[in-house]
Amino acid sequence: MDKLIFSFSNKSLKNNAKSKEILGGKGANLAQMAKLGLPVPPGFTISTKVCEYFYKNNKKIPKKIIKQVKKEIKITEKITKKLFGDLSNPLLLSVRSGSRVSMPGMMDTVLNLGLNDKTVIALKNKTENGRFAKDSYRRFIQMYGNVVLGIQSHFFEELIENYKLTKGVLQDTELDENDWDGLIQNFKDLVKEKNKKDFPQDVNEQLLGAIRAVFLSWDSKRAKIYRKINYIPDHWGTAVNIQAMVFGNMGQDCATGVAFTRNPSTGSKELFGEYLINAQGEDVVAGTRTPMNIINMGKSMPKIFKQLKKIFKELETKYKDMQDIEFTVENKKLWMLQTRSGKRTAKAAIKIAVDMVKEKLITNKQAVLRVDPNILDTLLHPTLDEKAEKIIIASGLPASPGAASGKVTFSSDEAERLKEQMQNTILVRIETSPEDINGMHASQGILTARGGMTSHAAVVARGMGKPCVSGSNEIKIDYEKKLFKAGSIEIKEGDIITIDGGSGKVMLGEIPTVKPDISGDFSKLMAWADKYRKLKVRTNSETPVDTKTGRDFGAEGIGLCRTEHMFFDEKRIISVREMILSNTPEDRKAALTKLLPYQKSDFFEIFKIMNGLPVTVRLLDPPLHEFLPKTDKDIYDISKELNISHQDVKFRITELHEDNPMLGHRGCRLGISFPEIYEMQCQAIFEALAQCKKKKIKLVIPEIMIPFVSTAAEIEILRNLVDKTAQKIQKTHSIKIKYYVGTMIELPRAALRANDIAKYADFFSFGTNDLTQTTFGISRDDSGKFLNDYVENKIFNKDPFVSIDERGVGELIKIAAERGRKQKKSLKLGICGEHGGDPASIEFCEKAKLNYVSCSPYRVPIARLAAAQAYLKKK
Ligand code: PEP
Ligand code: MG
Repeated sequence: MDKLIFSFSNKSLKNNAKSKEILGGKGANLAQMAKLGLPVPPGFTISTKVCEYFYKNNKKIPKKIIKQVKKEIKITEKITKKLFGDLSNPLLLSVRSGSRVSMPGMMDTVLNLGLNDKTVIALKNKTENGRFAKDSYRRFIQMYGNVVLGIQSHFFEELIENYKLTKGVLQDTELDENDWDGLIQNFKDLVKEKNKKDFPQDVNEQLLGAIRAVFLSWDSKRAKIYRKINYIPDHWGTAVNIQAMVFGNMGQDCATGVAFTRNPSTGSKELFGEYLINAQGEDVVAGTRTPMNIINMGKSMPKIFKQLKKIFKELETKYKDMQDIEFTVENKKLWMLQTRSGKRTAKAAIKIAVDMVKEKLITNKQAVLRVDPNILDTLLHPTLDEKAEKIIIASGLPASPGAASGKVTFSSDEAERLKEQMQNTILVRIETSPEDINGMHASQGILTARGGMTSHAAVVARGMGKPCVSGSNEIKIDYEKKLFKAGSIEIKEGDIITIDGGSGKVMLGEIPTVKPDISGDFSKLMAWADKYRKLKVRTNSETPVDTKTGRDFGAEGIGLCRTEHMFFDEKRIISVREMILSNTPEDRKAALTKLLPYQKSDFFEIFKIMNGLPVTVRLLDPPLHEFLPKTDKDIYDISKELNISHQDVKFRITELHEDNPMLGHRGCRLGISFPEIYEMQCQAIFEALAQCKKKKIKLVIPEIMIPFVSTAAEIEILRNLVDKTAQKIQKTHSIKIKYYVGTMIELPRAALRANDIAKYADFFSFGTNDLTQTTFGISRDDSGKFLNDYVENKIFNKDPFVSIDERGVGELIKIAAERGRKQKKSLKLGICGEHGGDPASIEFCEKAKLNYVSCSPYRVPIARLAAAQAYLKKK
């Protein structure tokens, strides 16, 4: 077996990905800080490999590990000059989890381990602080009882509350040593009652129990959900960090705090954090006491503050990134408990990356690689319209920026339920806990009544990129009655509110929003990304508004213009229906003639905006019955309008019905059966070009795309149709038109026969929505019902409709690309399925040597950044 336990004093440890894999993020960084000579409480890390072993071997901790742990404890005893379980100078330990990537609050921790009925007396004598010793012991029983023995924490809380009630006090701080003594007895009785066993007095038994509990917490429900949401593999496992305890609650010269080396909301280079005097770490996060701004430390503990600032700088220089730090001051001595790369908002991520290039800490290539493309999403979406009228009902801390509106909901389950009904919600909680992770994910934004800028809600929301207002103590929540009060206003469950996580304001109703500002640091980072990417980025668009948005976000063309969307307009649908209900080609042509001017003006407007950039226009794709009326009233209206009998309309609808429309009369099959439809569309494209020429607008080169092709013969016939129509228009308008004809590759047969198909195609565009559907044989419209079961059973890692299935669908893309290019070297290759905006799929497209990706307008910047990262990673 490899080495499985690592002491922080082991200087040979390297700070790299491998060390995080073995030691977990927390362990690797603690070792690294120790190596830098920073004050880290002595201790060691049990490797993630042991966790792997634990789960493979019936959840047993190997004897060899127990022996090694004892050895390491001896070393820690030597350094601290304390002894574990000793009756005069006892060593107390903290036992903390730490996986490869940070999973804040998802796994377990046990503090003050090593206390029992005897060592607590030793601690009292040694520190001459009986209250502190007893408070530490009751905290330990409470934490151990909950984490290791599985007793719900509210049982302990209730005992404290009742005790305070009997004594007539409000705060824990008003309880003295004797009170804690009484509560310790109550806690032990509770453990005995629930667990049928006494609270363990043997410190070694305590330690083993805690190690086991940390490993088990890797498999807790909340950790599993967190991993699922963040795509963290289940097999990674957690490390266990065991360290000598340091205390921030031994008196007024003690403190504990959390700080970021830069502002994680805005990215500004300023100290950001909170601390509490005479407290333990959990007090800062739990929101039970209101912490002070870290800047105040300059006055209350100037020496420590100076030392901290120096360390922050050192850590940023070492890690070349903004750090999230936990520290404790024990009797005027500073101890570093943790450093890690801090979670930040999208805005902060960009500012920090760009600033760090300016500060010469990182290169612009590193800056491009530093920002997760997915988080840009939050920046690209609208913020509150300043001019809109707002009724502000409360305010709180601006914990995570962005604006969101939705129905008020007080429980995570309800937020999830409403999400399934496509309803927007704002999750309103007194404070959130890791159990709320699902609801936070399901809602549009989070509002809490308690908790600071580093509270659970704030940290998690920032990580998710969701707007959050935390600590709004102006709202009084009543979970039972399902309402909250803000002053005299009462908001019930289901009422709509808006929150602005940038200003901390809570408003009544839904407030209009405005487009985001994408200049400054954002455009700088994008410019660097553009320098490093090879893949072109286009947008999927069929309306002038979307086309404009796509262009503003940097789209270099349109990769998919779905023409069917243009047919649903109120003025046109009647002609579309007339066309479909026609019995003869002549009647059909007559109806199509009515549609022609609309199509032509659609294309003209889009060509105008695209100003010479490529535009892929896909000819009609969906089965015709999608355009037909569904309700009796609509059927009646159409029969009246078109002067066709009600009976005939119904008959035609029945005739057009298909049992499996996704595999039915759609795509190029329509072009084969009703060539006049495709002719009209091509005529509209070419005439729009002629109009552009007349108006001296830079001509685009249209790429006419035939959908749902599976054989070379289909594209051969339809290419002929396009060419003939082009010749006709060129003649009538006396112009020379340049255009390309290509096909979508969205059926496995098309991918396999790409060499034949490429004879008639100038380009391929991978329609990965249908290609995924047809490769798996999974309906893209019905997969929602069982996809979760597939992810849960690890059949799928990710939804294959979101992130490309490289091994199956990806293989077909590679085959098609290779066979197509073999036939025609100049063949242009792109992707226009939803995957074109997914960073992981974009990485695949880069590897598969496609020429471009195409995605919805708001994902264009995400694709630009992801394409640059894909290229840099490949290199
Ligand atoms: C596809 O199938 O991937 C595609 C882009 O076409 P649509 O989604 O319109 O079927
Ligand atoms: Mg398709």
